[in-house]
This record gives sequence, structure tokens and C-alpha cells, in this order.
Amino acid sequence: MSAIEIRGLRKTFGTLEVLSGIDLDVESGEVVCVIGPSGSGKSTLLRCVNLLEEPSGGTVTVDGVELTDPDVDIDAARRRIGMVFQSFNLFPHLTVLGNVTVAQRKVLKRDKAEAERVARANLERVGLADKVDSYPEKLSGGQQQRVAIARALAMDPRVMLFDEPTSALDPELVGDVLGVMRGLADEGMTMVVVTHEMSFAREVADRVVFMDGGVVVEQGAPDRVIANPEHERTRTFLARVL
Ligand code: ADP
Ligand code: MG
Repeated sequence: MSAIEIRGLRKTFGTLEVLSGIDLDVESGEVVCVIGPSGSGKSTLLRCVNLLEEPSGGTVTVDGVELTDPDVDIDAARRRIGMVFQSFNLFPHLTVLGNVTVAQRKVLKRDKAEAERVARANLERVGLADKVDSYPEKLSGGQQQRVAIARALAMDPRVMLFDEPTSALDPELVGDVLGVMRGLADEGMTMVVVTHEMSFAREVADRVVFMDGGVVVEQGAPDRVIANPEHERTRTFLARVL
């Protein structure tokens, strides 16, 4: 069974068709990097996978649960999916520990001690064990993004979705965040990563998916897609970003 199974996924906004029939499987433990030009539908694809957007057609199944089934418990299903955005969206009035415990307490109903134990373990995992009592404004962008990753991990997700997690960071802070993501990949986390970081895609991804105009144009092993693309559209895109 695939961790994520997407079949015939379509999404329209009014008359604009943004996803035109996406078929994509992600195996358990697989790291898939999604690349493609701005406006090609990458964010919409991720947002349909955790139902931040309602698909207009097709099915999305995560960990055996079809999210597009009208009878599914959406909140329960969504808890299985961790999402990390370009903007970290930490609560400014909460400490790092508060940010990583609040959803555990409210959504998973963990008691304070358990939530803090899980938070500390995940902050350790992202290299920020010493920042538990800091407020977000005292942290660099890279540290804030690592807190956001710890916050997602604390919910015990079955898959992690990353939407350009390093695009808002100063260049010197990108490496630490990518390092944390590489660690998760090594631990066997199932990950879908929208990124422009071609060296990360090349080194960490099991598969690279190139999207353009709301469709998957091609996909395959990173070295094959990045070094030896089959399609003209992929070549044109890569020539711009590499
Ligand atoms: P990418 O992440 O690849 O840059 P997006 O998925 O963000 O692409 O957007 C794809 C297209 O969908 C764009 O043309 C964008 O303007 C449009 N779009 C995205 N979200 C909305 C929305 N909520 N309402 C209308 N159009 C949208
Ligand atoms: Mg996007």
C-alpha cells in the first residue's frame, strides 16, 4: 500500500483549472521532490493532499484512508499529515515549547507532561533543545522553521509535506533546515517536498516530479530527471533554475 495515492486529481478555481488530472503514488519511506515553474500547481497539489483545498475531482488516499470520501472524519485524517510552509506561522506570544505543545494538547488531548516530553524530543531532533524557553522573535528564520518542523513532527504524522520550506530564508540559514530534512529522510519519513533546491533534490530525493500547467510532465530518479530530462518543458525550466 502506498503512503499517498493520488488519482485523477483536479482542482479548479472558478473557470481556472489549476490541477488537470494528477496521478501520483508516494511509497512509505519515500522522499519525493516536486519541482516546476511558479503557478504550475505545486502548492495546490500539497494543499489538496491535506484538504486545505477541496479537490474538484479525483481521489486522495493517505495511509489507506481516502480523504476525498465524503464520510471520512477530515480532522482525524488530517492529523496524519504534517505540513510545513514557506512562512513558519509560529505564535509570537508563545515560547518555543508552547508552540510545539499547543496542538498536541488541543487536538491530540495529550496532558501537559506528555506534550512537553514529546516537544522536547522533537526539538532535540531539529537541534533546538536549548531554545525551549525562547520566543520566536529571538530566533533566526532558520531556527523558526526548525521549530515549525518540530511542531509538525510532534503530531506523529504518517507523512510530511513541505512547501518551499527554505524559500523565505537568508541563504546562510538554508543549510540547517535542509540538514534537518535530510535527517528525517534518513530516518525513513515519507516526505513530499516542493523545492527549488536542486542539490537537495538530487542528493535526498528518491524521485523527482516535474509539474507544469497543472500536470505531471515527467518523473523519475533525480539524476535522470535533473541531468537528462526527456521533455522540452523540463529542460527549459531546469535551464532557468540550475
Ligand atoms: P505553485 O505553487 O506551483 O506556484 P499554485 O498552486 O500556488 O502554484 O497556483 C497555481 C495557480 O492557481 C496559479 O495560477 C494561482 O494563481 C492559482 N490559485 C492558487 N490558489 C488560488 C485560489 N485560492 N483562488 C484562485 N486561484 C488560485
Ligand atoms: Mg507554491
